[in-house]
Amino acid sequence: MDVGLPSARAYFRFYAELNDHLPSNEQYQTLERMLSAPGAVKDMIESFGVPHTEIELIIANGHSVDFSHLVRDGDRIAVYPVFESLDITSELRVRPQALRDPKFVLDVHLGKLTAYLRMLGFDAVYSNSSRDADLVRISVTDRRILLTRDRGLLKQSAVTHGYWLRQTDSRRQLAEIARRFDLVGAIRPFTRCMACNGRLQSVLKEQVRSLLPPRTAELHEEFQQCTQCDRIYWKGSHYARMQRWIEELTRSA
Ligand SMILES: [Zn+2]
Repeated sequence: MDVGLPSARAYFRFYAELNDHLPSNEQYQTLERMLSAPGAVKDMIESFGVPHTEIELIIANGHSVDFSHLVRDGDRIAVYPVFESLDITSELRVRPQALRDPKFVLDVHLGKLTAYLRMLGFDAVYSNSSRDADLVRISVTDRRILLTRDRGLLKQSAVTHGYWLRQTDSRRQLAEIARRFDLVGAIRPFTRCMACNGRLQSVLKEQVRSLLPPRTAELHEEFQQCTQCDRIYWKGSHYARMQRWIEELTRSA
């Protein structure tokens, strides 16, 4: 009979927002798990419902370990989220390096959030026809953080950088992302096309006059044009509103 150690168990503790993935009666406490067979720490962590993409650091019995660490009887395992804003370089991270210049790829449900990220100047790839496999491929090959509300997508082992959005409202999601990835200092409003992610460049009114509604041409002097899709932007009535909104975001983050 091969039952290994019937009483073998390990103790897990999840820190900070990793607790969002746990049922409320398991949050912020030490969780005991029976070990029926030796397993990699990554699989055990995911069995709690926590996607590996959200994890930056695993400490087993006081030492940092990687995802392949085999959990043994009596192990005490502390699991920490991705720290984009904390310096933990002296510890071994579970991935080669953090993404300091965040670029994003978003799943099909996040069109509005995509536009908002672009409005702040962030590089955000989106298509309303992306399949899961496309999203994973783009995230990996282009080193983009995969944003989604689908935990299952983040559990695919190829994904190294991903984030599960807690909020459902797109404006709140934007604030969540700004805080989570420490984006405030990198905001460059109105430098990127909200429609296609292309860069904007200043153009003279004369260059684009034929494309403008007559009243717009009359009222405005400054214009920017997308270098990819030629869409034209000017500081209309929505501009002041967006700017106030950006200021709020900067203050709250
Ligand atoms: Zn464009």
